[in-house]
Amino acid sequence: MSGLSLYSFAVDTPATATQQWLDHFDTTGTTATLQHLGSTPVIVAHGPGTETPAPDNLVAPVAVVAAGGDFRLGRRELRPEGTVVRVGGATVGDGSLNVFAGPCAVENRQQLLDCADVAEHYGAVGLRGGAFKPRTSPYSFQGLKWAGLELLAEARAHTGLPILTEVLDPRHVERVAATADGLQIGARNMQNFELLSEAGKSGRPVVLKRGFGCTVDETLAAAEYILAQGNDQVILCERGIRTFEHATRFTLDISAVALMKQRSHLPVMVDPSHSVGIPALVEPVSLAAAAAGADALLIDVHVAPEQALCDGKQALLPDDFGVLMGKLELLSMGLSRKLAGVVGAHAVLAER
Ligand code: PEP
Ligand code: MN
Repeated sequence: MSGLSLYSFAVDTPATATQQWLDHFDTTGTTATLQHLGSTPVIVAHGPGTETPAPDNLVAPVAVVAAGGDFRLGRRELRPEGTVVRVGGATVGDGSLNVFAGPCAVENRQQLLDCADVAEHYGAVGLRGGAFKPRTSPYSFQGLKWAGLELLAEARAHTGLPILTEVLDPRHVERVAATADGLQIGARNMQNFELLSEAGKSGRPVVLKRGFGCTVDETLAAAEYILAQGNDQVILCERGIRTFEHATRFTLDISAVALMKQRSHLPVMVDPSHSVGIPALVEPVSLAAAAAGADALLIDVHVAPEQALCDGKQALLPDDFGVLMGKLELLSMGLSRKLAGVVGAHAVLAER
């Protein structure tokens, strides 16, 4: 469908006022539907009524945006100032740089609490950790599942850090959302449309990872499934795409970070760990992502990577994570940004 117009209204606009707009469009033979971008009412209209002046008694929209196709609620023009996504106390999209860190998978209580301590110690704003793991092989460790989720809740109580964890199955969304502060939809599930809709309905913040065989347009279209449920708490995550280059695990598409920020009001996260798969490359790629405008980073950190049951090969050791946080803090200052949750991490650099 082409030639759509999006009419956005002030958040306190009464339903009677948007209904008057719908009635007006109806009388002019224009197809119109009311959607919500978070608490912002948006009327999507297509037809002759968008071409002629509206009656004076209708409440004025805040903005009218022309939309060529199916990328609608995510469009930057609808919210030029950008969307702030709140994961626990973290505010992603407010201009600050936010680091979520932790192990790829929750393996046992001690491992998780130790990794959570490291994340907290160096100033991460949130703890990552998979309880449900999407593994290429059915014979690989699949995660501790519900028991892993309980351990994440314990780690949150222990450190005060909000928890971000993957949900694999639409039937699990409600139960995972009851505990987790943020839901992660993995690269392999970016186009699991049922899962996207369920995550949208949950109202929880959602980190949507780009599929490694998916374009930026497909990623933005996938985000629409969550937005269309009225949930504007979506973070887009670039985690590398598959190319002919096999020296790294995937190829980080750094231009997609800047592009998604330009085209969408949603904040953008980068996962350097899953992109490169090599600890020594995590630091330079994290710095590049921050410089390209990423609002958040998702970093694998493990206290004993050699014993990890999943992706140990790419995890940073605690000390190296500390050094990275120090460099991110200095870089943020240079970019007139702030590394959220951190004061003085760069002191670690002087100790080395
Ligand atoms: C993860 O972050 O644990 C993960 C499985 O990542 P991805 O979906 O990007 O492969
Ligand atoms: Mn992993």
